[in-house]
Parts: sequence; C-alpha cells; structure tokens
Amino acid sequence: MTSHDLVVVGGGPAGAAVALGALQARPGMSVALLDRADFPRDKTCGDGIAPEVFDLLTDAGVPGVADGWAPVDRLSMRRGERVVERTMVRSTWVIPRAVFDERLHQAAVRAGAQPHTHRVSQVTVGADDVRVDDRFSAPLAVGADGAHSVVRRAIGLPPGPTAFALRGYAPTTDRRVGTQAMVFGTSRQPSYAWSFDRGDGLANVGYGEVQAPGAPRLSRPQLLAQIEQLLPGSTADGTQWKGAHLPLSGWGARVASGRVALTGDAAGMVNPMTGEGIYYAVLTGLLAGRAAAAALDTGDLHLFGRDYTRRVRTELGPHLRHSALAARLCRSGRLLDAGVRAAQSDQRVFDDLVDLGLANGRITPVVLRRLARHLLGTATQRTEHIG
Ligand SMILES: Cc1cc2nc3c(=O)[nH]c(=O)nc-3n(C[C@H](O)[C@H](O)[C@H](O)COP(=O)(O)OP(=O)(O)OC[C@H]3O[C@@H](n4cnc5c(N)ncnc54)[C@H](O)[C@@H]3O)c2cc1C
Repeated sequence: MTSHDLVVVGGGPAGAAVALGALQARPGMSVALLDRADFPRDKTCGDGIAPEVFDLLTDAGVPGVADGWAPVDRLSMRRGERVVERTMVRSTWVIPRAVFDERLHQAAVRAGAQPHTHRVSQVTVGADDVRVDDRFSAPLAVGADGAHSVVRRAIGLPPGPTAFALRGYAPTTDRRVGTQAMVFGTSRQPSYAWSFDRGDGLANVGYGEVQAPGAPRLSRPQLLAQIEQLLPGSTADGTQWKGAHLPLSGWGARVASGRVALTGDAAGMVNPMTGEGIYYAVLTGLLAGRAAAAALDTGDLHLFGRDYTRRVRTELGPHLRHSALAARLCRSGRLLDAGVRAAQSDQRVFDDLVDLGLANGRITPVVLRRLARHLLGTATQRTEHIG
C-alpha cells in the first residue's frame, strides 16, 4: 500500500486536469494518477475540442496542446431542408484523443503526478482515508474514470441519463473540408450525425442519440445507416467504428460525497444538447484539483466534497440549468427548426447557440426573441394555410 495526498482514478482529460489543478495550487503534493490503460490510448469520441478548453489549459500552465493541428472555422447545422453554415467567433479543433489525451497526461506527469497503470476495482471510503484496491491510499480521492465510473458506484450514486453514439474515421469529403457539420435526426431527439474535419484528410464521423430509459439501443448497422441517411457518402472507406455511452448532465446532480469528488464523465458532465464533454471534464478536473489543494492547505479535509460542489455550482450552475432546458426543448422538431432558422438569420443567435452547446453559455435574450419570432412566424403561416 502506498500513501499519497490525493488519489485520482482515471487519467483522461478530467483526471489529468485534477492533477494539474492540484499541483499548480500546491506544488510538491503527492498525486497518484491511476489508469487501466497505457497512454497513448484511443477514446471513442467526436474529437471536437472547444477553444475554451485551451483557455483553461493555458491558465493551468499547459499551453500549446493543439500544436500541429489545424483550427476548424466553420460550423454547419442542418435539419431536413433547413441549414445554417457560418464562421464561428472562435475556431474549434478536431484532434484524435490518442493525441490530445496523451499530451494532457504527459503534462500532468511533468507537473509531478505519479502515473500507475492499474485497473481499479474497489474503492473503500474510511473515516480518515480512501483506499483503492488496498494498493493506494490518500485522505482525498477523485473519480475521473469515465462513463462507467467505479468511484461513482463506490459512493452510492446511481447512473443518470445517457446517450449512445458511434464514431469512425473516413476521408473528408470535399465540401466538408474545414467544417464541423452536424445534421439533426428527424426521429428521436436530441440526435444528430456529424462529420468533423480533422484537417489531415480524415474526418471524425458519427451518430448519437439520447437513450430513452429501458429502450433497446440501436445496433451498429442501424447506427451506420443513420449516419448515411443524414450525411450521405460520409462513411465511405471509414475505419475504427466504435460505440460508447455519454452520461448527460442535468441540474442539481450530486458530484461529491465527503472526501471523494467526481469529475468529467464520472460526474455525468456531458452537454445534453450536443454530447460535448471535454470542456466540462477539464473544468471540473481543475476545480477538484484546486479544492483538494485547498483542503490540504487548511486541514479541513472533510469539507473537500462540499467545497468542490460549491465551486462547480458557481462556475457551471447557470449553464447546467440552461443546457438542460435547451435539451428538453430540442425534443420538439418545431423548436429545432426554429433554432436553425434563427441561427441562419442572426449571427448573434448562432454564436450564442455555439457557446451553449460547446462551453459555458446560456439561453440569451436574443436567442429567445429570435426563437419566438420564428415559432410565431411558422404558426402564422400555418394558420394562413389552413384558412
Ligand atoms: C461517440 C462520442 C463522441 C463524443 N464527441 C465529443 C466531442 O466531439 N467533443 C467533446 O467535447 N466530447 C465528446 N464526447 C464526450 C467526451 O468523450 C467525454 O465527455 C470525455 O472523454 C470525458 O473525459 P473524462 O476524462 O471524464 O473521461 P474519459 O475520457 O473516458 O477518461 C476516463 C479514463 O478513466 C480510465 N478508467 C476507466 N475505468 C477505470 C478503472 N476502473 N480503473 C482505472 N482507470 C479507469 C479510462 O481508461 C480513461 O482513460 C463524445 C463521447 C462519445 C462517446
């Protein structure tokens, strides 16, 4: 058994960010960073990374994580015949997770985290410490172990709502070069197919949809058929098709218990509108690391979970409420159509929706006004038609 100040289970974006946040605030602290995989490792993802992720990492002392990858400037959204394509205020990146996650993991190790390749199966929370498989112990622990978190189970939190998505890599078709293309489904909502150009000749292509409780999930051939139906030609010569769950955020969900905090997917922090989760993983990871350092500084170790929860609510509370409401509204095809039309007619609406879907944005007054105008417009047209 080795003793540490902090044990982090999972070394993906959330886990690496926990270590970075903790070691930046309290250099020299002993942080064990456990992952079942050796890095680099693949992670099933759309690989779309919001610019705010790089802001957070630069603040945490890790600049240049996107070096060598081309920024993506254009975003298109389509539903049926309605389409909007515009330049984003800030570029995003599409970087394979084998590359991105390794860069973060290496940065955490350079900062002083102690990496261990170890598949965690048991987490025991005692009065004064947390023990992991009777191999690692620390007064504080963080679960950053993804969608099927062992740490989450250990502190008795049930899984929340999920989506399921399939992704692969295929040559970027000419008209989608330099673009992140999203095409919303016409059946279950929220659902969409995507083609995100990586800038190196390949695109990350996929389809995901929210899982209704108890409903069977689509098979791989059905998911591939959905991609082809919404984005014809995009799966040609595709490889590395893999599916995975996305644990969706809501409002008021618990993210900690006493000396144990949950971050990223383990905390159920995926945007329920878009499936984006890397921003929330890095942000919650940094917050948990800083809260751990503060608890060790003051000696108030039992306040760790409460302090971390307060930090998450302060940073993300309004956004989580607004994105949960937006995801609920997106279940209506009419509202989705109105959203696409509003974004088509006004760059500010487009920008605000991007911010709400990829980072820390809210449903702004201009979005509400434009949505209402387009919904009322449709209603008026219908009445005229019926009349
Ligand atoms: C198909 C798909 C497309 C997506 N597209 C996007 C996108 O384009 N943009 C975006 O921002 N987000 C996207 N997401 C969401 C994003 O992938 C996650 O939100 C993000 O990976 C969360 O990071 P994390 O560090 O919390 O978890 P992970 O990245 O899953 O890392 C968890 C780590 O924990 C390790 N681990 C798990 N269990 C154990 C264990 N028992 N013991 C030790 N280690 C363990 C794993 O090996 C892994 O390294 C997508 C998800 C899916 C499934």
